[in-house]
Amino acid sequence: MSRLVSAKDMLNKARDGKYAVGQFNINNLEWTKAILLTAEELKSPVILGVSEGAGKYMCGYKTVVGMVNGMMESLNITVPVALHLDHGSFEGAKACINAGFSSVMFDGSHYPIAENIAKTTALVNTCDVLGLSLEAEVGSIGGEEDGVVGMGECADPAECKAVADLGVTMLAAGIGNIHGKYPENWPGLRFDVLEKIKAQTGDMPLVLHGGTGIPDDMIKTAISLGVAKINVNTECQLVFAEATRKYIEAGKDLSGKGFDPRKLLAPGFEAIKDKVKEKMEIFGSVGKA
Ligand SMILES: [Zn+2]
Repeated sequence: MSRLVSAKDMLNKARDGKYAVGQFNINNLEWTKAILLTAEELKSPVILGVSEGAGKYMCGYKTVVGMVNGMMESLNITVPVALHLDHGSFEGAKACINAGFSSVMFDGSHYPIAENIAKTTALVNTCDVLGLSLEAEVGSIGGEEDGVVGMGECADPAECKAVADLGVTMLAAGIGNIHGKYPENWPGLRFDVLEKIKAQTGDMPLVLHGGTGIPDDMIKTAISLGVAKINVNTECQLVFAEATRKYIEAGKDLSGKGFDPRKLLAPGFEAIKDKVKEKMEIFGSVGKA
């Protein structure tokens, strides 16, 4: 029987193979099913991301673990799947570890670096014992996520090294990336900063948050410079909303049994599948499971 795995092996392979594994955030059953089926069809490893807000929405972390484990068994998913807390608080990380997640992110980027290091260290030891992967963050990522607004600062490479040396599995570092849609006047990723971070952190797989709307050529350059995990959230939400709106605007919910939620949500489900496929192809993870 397939079971959730730590993200460690898949990210180390991605780093060595110069591709990236996508983290796709889930919001409900349709999202989860669309992402798992696409990963299986494309033989790609995948990371399911759950924000604390989405975890609450889905009735708690235990519900999420139960849904994902059940779905992996029913759909006979054989590719490596990690279930990962996205931008967790210290308490949230502990709750997810207890609930059965296989990976957590502790985002201590809003704390002074000494406190970020202290809290990350406590989780490094716990995750190590349990065989879970741990993502840390240095330099907050811009945009808004669950009510937290970051200004998109660039991480200090020396601080990145200090956190990487704690023994985390992967490191998110701000390089001008932001969550949500990018503004028209966005200057692009700071590859000079990424190169300095890579030089300081060595083999550490780096994580690029805010994957929505970063041009494909910048994604490929980032992967060549050490990014091994890319987070995608908003983009799936946008295509889901667009496909659902089109269905309703075309009046399809008013004809026959078009009001059936299994029909109403189907176009959005297919749109997520297409978007995940497109991203896995750009990231280079297809066939790497
Ligand atoms: Zn993020």
